[in-house]
Amino acid sequence: MIHANLPDCLIKTPPNLTLETVYSVKHWNDNLFSFKITRPASFRFRSGEFVMIGIASEGAPLLRPYSIASPSYSDELEFLSIYVPNGPLTSRLRAIAPGDKIFLGKKATGTLVTDALLEGERLFLLSSGTGLAPFLSIARDPDIYSRFNQIILIHCVRQIKDLAFRQNLESSFADDYLVRDQALLQLLYIPTVTREKFKTNGRITDLLNNKSIFFTINGLNKLNYMTDRVMICGGKQMIIDISSTLTRDGFTEGSNSRPGHFVIEKAFID
Ligand SMILES: Cc1cc2nc3c(=O)[nH]c(=O)nc-3n(C[C@H](O)[C@H](O)[C@H](O)COP(=O)(O)OP(=O)(O)OC[C@H]3O[C@@H](n4cnc5c(N)ncnc54)[C@H](O)[C@@H]3O)c2cc1C
Repeated sequence: MIHANLPDCLIKTPPNLTLETVYSVKHWNDNLFSFKITRPASFRFRSGEFVMIGIASEGAPLLRPYSIASPSYSDELEFLSIYVPNGPLTSRLRAIAPGDKIFLGKKATGTLVTDALLEGERLFLLSSGTGLAPFLSIARDPDIYSRFNQIILIHCVRQIKDLAFRQNLESSFADDYLVRDQALLQLLYIPTVTREKFKTNGRITDLLNNKSIFFTINGLNKLNYMTDRVMICGGKQMIIDISSTLTRDGFTEGSNSRPGHFVIEKAFID
């Protein structure tokens, strides 16, 4: 198949990819955008997984891993993307518009899935920057609300304008009739900002260490491996710091073959 409307045309779709159409694009600020693409009927994923996506560049696909932000029942696939100046993919991806073509890997994968977690009472989703993306999928997974009593989603960014999907989260996904009733009762969204004044300020590690975050969460004064499960996605240092604190406190890291008390995904590596 020849892709007529790719900027860098005359490239065949490799057998491990499909060619999808951009459905809509939303720019949250100069450095952050999200977009929806068509979803092949055969494409399956578990909430929290990532997939390779990309564009044609110099006659070959230019691909990067991206966490899937849409719920697993959605007809489209949504992604939340940073714009890295001079980044090979994002400097071009930022200009996509409805109707453009995007390569999509045929297989989603990842370790940031609730299958890798033991049963628990509270589920903490700890994210920084675009590490929010997989949690947008997980927090709209109806199964989560039957498995856990409370879902606490903490999103840490530098500036208030970086709080993508803030309205959707603050309204407990009011426009999503499949989960909104459960989310309203069970989802607690805590945005935190590091570089300007906001109702909650500070990195997640600091919030957890000085326990200020726990004043917001009723009946909780410390993470406890007996009841709490944790998923972490975002900057490398945040993942390392939180993982070591959890390990010190008796939490074990889970995998698909051996579920544990917490799981991680390195959404980007510096
Ligand atoms: C499992 C996995 C899931 C990912 N999911 C997402 C996602 O949902 N959304 C997303 O925007 N990116 C995600 N990434 C990063 C993504 O794959 C690309 O690195 C990113 O889109 C930049 O691509 P690029 O070609 O423009 O620059 P690259 O050459 O890939 O990156 C250049 C530099 O930019 C920085 N960088 C890359 N991605 C980010 C980021 N997300 N936030 C802050 N700094 C970054 C790093 O320092 C990197 O070395 C994910 C990465 C992994 C490994």
